[in-house]
Amino acid sequence: MPAAIETRDLVKTYKPAYPRGAPGVKALDGLTFAVETGTIFGLLGPNGAGKSTTMKILTTLSRPDSGEARVAGIDVLANPDAVRRVIGYVAQKSGVDPESTGRENLTLQGQLHGMRGVLLATRVDELLDRFQLKEAGNRPARGYSGGMQRKLDIALGLIHRPKVLFLDEPTTGLDPEARGALWSLIEDLAESGLTILLTTHYLEEADRLAERIAIVDRGRVVVEGQPFELKSELKGDSVQVVFAEAQDGPRVRAALASVAAIQDLLIDDKILRARADHGASAVPPIRA
Ligand code: ADP
Repeated sequence: MPAAIETRDLVKTYKPAYPRGAPGVKALDGLTFAVETGTIFGLLGPNGAGKSTTMKILTTLSRPDSGEARVAGIDVLANPDAVRRVIGYVAQKSGVDPESTGRENLTLQGQLHGMRGVLLATRVDELLDRFQLKEAGNRPARGYSGGMQRKLDIALGLIHRPKVLFLDEPTTGLDPEARGALWSLIEDLAESGLTILLTTHYLEEADRLAERIAIVDRGRVVVEGQPFELKSELKGDSVQVVFAEAQDGPRVRAALASVAAIQDLLIDDKILRARADHGASAVPPIRA
């Protein structure tokens, strides 16, 4: 099956408006990944890694300096209008109008997509039903719980039956119960054939939902694979030692050469990082 989302070598630098000629922030530095149709793919990474910038480019809200991106086979740069018709985007910040009811929010969103009459009314009912918002649908959204607002946000993104749904940190700020309910709902959506790209900084969320994950750091994909593959590569414990003063890296490395229990040793100024099969028993020889 062809990929529903493809990016190749995306580069994006944000240039400050002032002072002129000042160096910009490189948000994306050659980002490449592909998402198979009908699957959930997770972009995982720390704050500032470039996840939202990637979302903005794929949803036509921003343009890269260079590189290519296609969504549902359509070139994002050459044909943004066509891309917009086949995608739903649920941003981090809610798009719900709190003074309108759930039903009114959905109806307005449908109208923005050119939907009218019975077809629109039926679609609104279908979504309220599917997202368990039927009762709440006639109340102003300002009275909704955080979980209900998020559900309404996702319903807004689905009104026009998109093929690809973008979820930017869908469960940030929700309590564990609401998060669990939303996870089930997102899984159901993928079962019905939708392709979903989600960003998250919760490893647990990516692990639970995504068939594949790309870990992004400083605008590049550092590693990509199925969650269980990535976790098996990271097996064991992470050991971190902070020295009182900066250390001579080669000297520390030489001193630790005989400690067989540690791998992937990194020494950066005052901090030593390593992996060990069993962290607790690796610390005494490291200290010695
Ligand atoms: P993430 O979503 O992974 O937290 P972002 O894509 O939001 O990362 O940000 C990547 C980098 O680009 C960060 O260093 C961020 O500060 C910078 N950045 C994002 N948006 C803007 C913007 N509109 N103007 C300037 N810098 C930005």
